[in-house]
Amino acid sequence: HLILSGVHRHYGTGDTMVRVLEAADLTVQSGELVALVAPSGAGKSTLLHLSGLLESPQGGEVEIIGIKTSQLGDRGRTQLRRSTVGYVYQFHHLLPEFTALENVSMPQLIAGKSPREAEARSMELLDLLGVGPRASHRPAELSGGEQQRVAIARAAANHPKVILADEPTGNLDPETSDLVFAALRSLIKNEGAAALIATHNHDLARRADRIVTLKGGLVVPHIL
Ligand code: ATP
Ligand code: MG
Repeated sequence: HLILSGVHRHYGTGDTMVRVLEAADLTVQSGELVALVAPSGAGKSTLLHLSGLLESPQGGEVEIIGIKTSQLGDRGRTQLRRSTVGYVYQFHHLLPEFTALENVSMPQLIAGKSPREAEARSMELLDLLGVGPRASHRPAELSGGEQQRVAIARAAANHPKVILADEPTGNLDPETSDLVFAALRSLIKNEGAAALIATHNHDLARRADRIVTLKGGLVVPHIL
């Protein structure tokens, strides 16, 4: 699970200070999918970065699988992030010179899996997400929706306990969005991961287990 408690994050100082999160609390249980819906600039990406240990809060605690991360050093945080967090970026960040299969295998090889094990797991995920037949394509040879599904496969490659996705369907047409969201959802349920997904798409948000938004630097329940 993922627990944020009293998380504080601002940017800048003095007159130019932007207070994004004041005392944000949020718990996402294993197997739970929470949608984060809030206006542009409200702090969705900031919340996801903090949850994924890509950034540190100035106050409060981020807890992943029972480990309080404020006590960890840089190396400990990086290690915990690599072994427990799967991140789907708004723009997919696939490595352009590598195939879909290689992109999904990469984090597994870094984690110490053998190439054969990594390839088997990658093919399983690409098949699950309906892009198995595209395994040997490079990102430029994939459609936007296919690229996004490969990015999801990559995020799930190391069986993450926490899956974070920043507008994973932001640049896709409605039907592809539906497909990508369904794939993400089934993956989260299969893996029993705690998932937090920022989205502007209300139809998709309604298919989450719960919806939250950001108000006055707090995470609050939301109904669409
Ligand atoms: P969007 O829907 O447009 O992606 P968001 O909800 O993800 O928006 P964030 O990216 O979290 O919003 O940004 C929250 C606020 O913090 C914004 O007002 C932004 O200008 C500010 N901000 C974000 N990153 C920084 C930074 N590195 N330095 C200064 N201000 C920042
Ligand atoms: Mg954002």
